[in-house]
This record gives sequence, C-alpha cells and structure tokens, in this order.
Amino acid sequence: MHEESTKIKNLGDIYRTIYYNGPCSRQNIASCLGLSLPTVTNNLNRLKEYDLIYNCGFFESTGGRKANMLRCISNARYAAGIDITRNHLSIAIINLDSTIIASTRIRIPFEDTDSYYQFAAQEMEDLITKNKIPKDKLLGTGISLPVIVGADQKSITYAAVIQIRDGIYPRMERHIPSPFLLFNDANAGGLAEAWISPSQRGEVYLSLSNSVGGAAINGKDISMGNNCRASEFGHMTIIPHGRKCYCGQQGCLNAYCSANLLANMTNGDLKRFFDELGENRGFQQFFDEYLDYLAIGVNNLRMCFDCDVILGGNVGAYMTDYIHVLREKAVALNPYEQDADYIRVCHYKTEAAAAGAALYFVNQFVLEM
Ligand SMILES: [Zn+2]
Repeated sequence: MHEESTKIKNLGDIYRTIYYNGPCSRQNIASCLGLSLPTVTNNLNRLKEYDLIYNCGFFESTGGRKANMLRCISNARYAAGIDITRNHLSIAIINLDSTIIASTRIRIPFEDTDSYYQFAAQEMEDLITKNKIPKDKLLGTGISLPVIVGADQKSITYAAVIQIRDGIYPRMERHIPSPFLLFNDANAGGLAEAWISPSQRGEVYLSLSNSVGGAAINGKDISMGNNCRASEFGHMTIIPHGRKCYCGQQGCLNAYCSANLLANMTNGDLKRFFDELGENRGFQQFFDEYLDYLAIGVNNLRMCFDCDVILGGNVGAYMTDYIHVLREKAVALNPYEQDADYIRVCHYKTEAAAAGAALYFVNQFVLEM
C-alpha cells in the first residue's frame, strides 16, 4: 500500500478503535491494531490536534506509570435529522455519541411546496443557532419521509401517505443545506434502534405509526432488498379480502395496526387514547382487537426472521404497559416457543426517525475517518 494511504488508514483505524470500544490506552490500541507504539502516539497526537479525542483520565496502574485513558470527543461533529410526516415536522440534532442534543416537533401539514421546505430549513437553522452548534461541525442532514426512497437516496419511487411530485431533491436543495439525503421513515427509525442496541445480532423493527412499516437490521446495517422495498411489513396481507389499505389492496397489516386507528378514537390524539385506555371499556375492547392483529403481524415476522422484534413508531412508544398482553397473544400463535420475550419495545420514544436519518452521517464520518 502507498505510504500516504497507509498513514490515513492508521489514523482512521485508531479513531475507530477508540470510537467503537470506548476508553482505550495507547498500549490497547497498539496491540489491537498490531501497530508500533510510536506510530500510535503520532496518530493520537494528530487526532488531538483535530479535536477528535481527549484524555479522560488514567487506567489503574499494574505497576509503572498509569496509562492515559483516551476517548472520542462526542461533540466533535453533529448531524441533523428531519422527519416529515403527514401532519408533523420533527427535527433532531445528534452528536457522534448518537445522543439527541436538541429536538423540536411542530404540528404542520406536509405540502410539497417551496414555503414548506423553507419553513423546515428555517426551523432547523433556529434549532442549530439556539443550541450554539457550530455549523462547520455539522456533517449533514438526513430527511426521513413516509415514502419508498430510490437507491440514490435523492429520488422517491413510491409515495401514497403524502403527495409528492417528481424531482423533490432539487426543490429541497434550494432550501436545505448540503449535504442531505432522503430516507424511508421506518428504515431511519430501525437504524436508530440498531445503533442503540447492545446486540450485534439480527433484529426486526416494526414501525407502528400512521403508516406501518419496518426494517430488517443486521448489526448496524439495514437490508434494503432488490428494489429498496425490503421490510414493507405494513403491506403483508394478514386477512384475505380484509379492510381496505391506503395502498389499494385489502387486508394489509397497515389497515389493522396503523396508529391512526387508535388516535381516531380521540380526535387524532394518540396520547389521550392511551391516557384514557385504563378507564374506558370501549377503548379496551378496541385495543384488545388491535393487539390480536398486531400479534399476527409480529408472529409472522418471528417465523420469517427468527430474531427479536422491536415495536417502534408512535404506538411502539406506548407499548411498555401492554407488552405482556401482546406476548401472550403471540405465544398462542407460535408452534415452537412458550414465551415471546423476543418482542421488545423501542428505546427512542420520540424522534427515532429523525435521529436515524441523522445517524447515517455519523456512521459515514466514522467509517471514512
Ligand atoms: Zn397495503
């Protein structure tokens, strides 16, 4: 390998070793990467000059001098995520730690117009200014939408939940600062969960928002499928000739498990539905039926993927108190298992899609360091 590219690779490898493993000593890094101590020291000095790492303390001595504990600076870079839904706009700014530093959620109906994108860009700008985030440290903006995004992440191949004309990217480009890319909302939400998950194994994310979608996660990657339409779990048929779905088909999981069905009971206010659920017999019956259908969907995912299923989206955020009921219903459908501990509730209660879209840029930064 060319000398210069070896140097760049060493710098990146050392940064990634600290980033992925947490506090490391110079000796840890040298033995982990098979590099000499002087090479490691030179690179660590450069990373400190770039304000990417710092000494966060000392390791306990095993005789001799205590070794410096090195850690990545979380606020060395930031990324932004904008989640566009039919009636809301959410914006989140995350740091390299994938911690949400600032966020906002505004009720505003989506319109594919210049004034809407201008408004979104202004809200993001205000959030950045208010939180004193240096613009030169912003890696990029991920935009999550309830649509199917093309492989270039600049085009949309299918949109039914919101109305979008062709050529959305150039229209957004007039307002949203570069670089930015488009993401399917459920994939973005799944990515956020994958990053926070301690498990390196496969997981499936089921997003229960106003439209139902999902993501199949492998480690920190999302399976996209041959047509970038993998994990469209919302359009699995669960009831032949059943309820009409917005996609034009009948009996899709989406028609039975959309968050709208619950929110419509309380004039579109999902929080109120769950607040009143404990006292309202009618709501309880309705929700029990909702869980019956959800159990079918979740069990189908278990049969296909044989891995944990994470419930996310607007309904997922409220599922902690009802997970035992869903697990019982799912076990009753499962020929192999006596419990359904594989069903889990999402970590991000809000802003998962915005955070996930932003995480893409954090991931790229770390990989390309
Ligand atoms: Zn459908």
